[in-house]
Amino acid sequence: MSNASSLYIHIPFCLSRCRYCDFASHAGISPSLREAYLSALCREIDSLPSGELETVYFGGGTPSLLTEGELLRILDAVSRRFRVKPHAEISLECNPATASPEKLSAFRSLGITRLSIGVQSLSDGELRALGRAHTADDARQTYRAARAAGFESVSCDLMYGLPGQTPTSFESTLKELLSFSPDHLSAYGLILEEGTPLYAERDRIAFPDEDLEYAMYERLVEQTAQGGYSHYEISNYAREGHGCRHNLVYWERLPYHAVGLSASSFDGAVRRTHTRELSCYLADPVGSFDEITAIAPSDAAFEEIMLSLRLGKGLSLSGFLERHGFDFAERYRELLLPWRRRGYVREEDGRLFLSDAGLYLSSALLSEILAATP
Ligand code: SF4
Repeated sequence: MSNASSLYIHIPFCLSRCRYCDFASHAGISPSLREAYLSALCREIDSLPSGELETVYFGGGTPSLLTEGELLRILDAVSRRFRVKPHAEISLECNPATASPEKLSAFRSLGITRLSIGVQSLSDGELRALGRAHTADDARQTYRAARAAGFESVSCDLMYGLPGQTPTSFESTLKELLSFSPDHLSAYGLILEEGTPLYAERDRIAFPDEDLEYAMYERLVEQTAQGGYSHYEISNYAREGHGCRHNLVYWERLPYHAVGLSASSFDGAVRRTHTRELSCYLADPVGSFDEITAIAPSDAAFEEIMLSLRLGKGLSLSGFLERHGFDFAERYRELLLPWRRRGYVREEDGRLFLSDAGLYLSSALLSEILAATP
């Protein structure tokens, strides 16, 4: 038996490669390689310690490229090893270019409860600049099909800071998306990852500057609040009862299983990260780890600070003291003073948390904390 009650499953297939992406995924994978991957994945699932699951998350890559039969095969492997609890959250990431209404209905019938749609933008020009395989209309139709299929929770992913994007074009996407009433929104600023086509062309592309990007974040925060969404994590907004239970497991440093290419699991003390090389994973899906790291106590403390300060509810000062043996607010008192004075950091009911503006600047605060940590 394991103490982890969450399982991440990585599906590394994509229709085509987006220009900003450095995830472990492959476009145009052959049917035989795809079959080999699914066999390896099921073998890895079979090797996990048995237990109960509260959440399962199909991420990628593009899990919505799975056929109904392939998804069923993976879910069968999961239920041979685990008892999936009756009210488990079972999420699947969906690229609008890959999801017909029939497929979404079939996924819902197989037990997927939560669909996360990679909308990113409702401007075709912005989607083209990102090299996404779908159009704005594909995203609108996928959203309608997801609702018609009856998913308990529908989430949409949005991006800001895109080539050619302005606060006005971002707001137009945001307003239209909010008019659909998704249960959950994830919104990320574009990160230029080395080795991607967008990174290689960065000097020839007009990106919004920092002020414009912050203006987009401000609109996001204002309009989601007006729409009744809670800003429960730095990049995530949810209606009552629709926070992503699976992702909360990561953010609260709870243990979880993870299977598939590049997937990273945590048992409460050790993180194991699989290889990103497809051939290595296929050769040994149970043992092909690139990294196995026992988390030292000081790293565990910093991880908790980093993850908790990105949550809307912040960090529990008494819980932190109990787990790590020192008083966070006291140790970093001097460092936190200017942040408190500017209103970025607040303390209430024994919890320390960041304001919306503070969340936007959290990387700078965390760098200061890391630099001051022995
Ligand atoms: S669909 Fe997702 S995983 Fe695939 S290339 Fe695009 S961003 Fe990367």
